[in-house]
Amino acid sequence: ALLFGLICGILAGTLTFYILTIRLHPGKEILTAIKRGQFYVVYQPVVDAKELKMQGCEVLMRWKHPTMGEIPPDAFINFAEAQKLIVPLTLHLFDLIIRDAPQLQTVLPPGAKLGINIAPGHLHADSFKDDMRKFAASLPPDHFQVVLEVTERDMINQLEAAPLFEWLHHEGFEIAIDDFGTGHSALIYLERFTMDYLKIDRGFVNAIGTETVTSPVLDAVLTLARRLNMVTVAEGVETPEQAAWLRQHGVNYLQGYWISRPMPLAQFLKWEPDFVKD
Ligand code: C2E
Ligand code: CA
Ligand code: CA
Ligand code: CA
Repeated sequence: ALLFGLICGILAGTLTFYILTIRLHPGKEILTAIKRGQFYVVYQPVVDAKELKMQGCEVLMRWKHPTMGEIPPDAFINFAEAQKLIVPLTLHLFDLIIRDAPQLQTVLPPGAKLGINIAPGHLHADSFKDDMRKFAASLPPDHFQVVLEVTERDMINQLEAAPLFEWLHHEGFEIAIDDFGTGHSALIYLERFTMDYLKIDRGFVNAIGTETVTSPVLDAVLTLARRLNMVTVAEGVETPEQAAWLRQHGVNYLQGYWISRPMPLAQFLKWEPDFVKD
């Protein structure tokens, strides 16, 4: 019993110490994880709605923590932002993509889109333009069309971002509004900025087929996108019913588990669509 108590004590102590370590040095934790190679990326195919052929992919980050296991990006991205470590983390993401690029090139044709999520903390960092230039220069020349995915929320607060977006276009990047429809938006930025893609949040896609009448908001979003000549991407497409509805309603690209889950590089390189074309 004494031994058991002792072991429990040590374990509890270790645990407390560990939690404290994270609390006290959360920044260090991310930097250490970068050094130790705990971050990796997964790729999720994006297909065109007409032929269901892969036209590109979205790059998503993962953290395999040695003791806590897989930590979801929603958690560690916010964490990195709060710790002012989003720039080193994104630069690490760029390194991982650059390392994979020669192999990605073998399955993604020239002009294929490479969607990368950019956190607001990086978008507004002093180094942003330099970082983007270096990243583009390190990719195989003239192969990928890099699409930066930024959320709606970031733009409403940052109307001064217009010149930055102009610069990005000039440098050959494209821009997508991510999670469209979730931002309580004034929609004013849609006219002020030139956006290339509008990614319809999976919350709307989810509703397709579960309600007798499809969401009037989704209808409105699609009408708006058409009027503004914006290309649409539906996220979170999970069922054939959702895919059919979106294709009928003129959405341009589809992404979601129905097409494929995000995959590590080796699996992505071997990926063959297994859904049945109509
Ligand atoms: P997001 O940019 O909206 O990414 C799409 C999320 O939806 C991904 O979650 C993806 O795995 C998930 N997803 C894709 N298809 C389906 C589907 O059919 N059903 C469902 N239920 N989910 C689907 P993930 O990878 O967990 O990423 C969550 C969020 O974390 C991303 O949302 C993005 O905001 C952020 N994130 C991920 N990777 C990065 C990164 O490298 N940098 C930054 N700044 N943010 C990232
Ligand atoms: Ca995204
Ligand atoms: Ca999204
Ligand atoms: Ca999101």
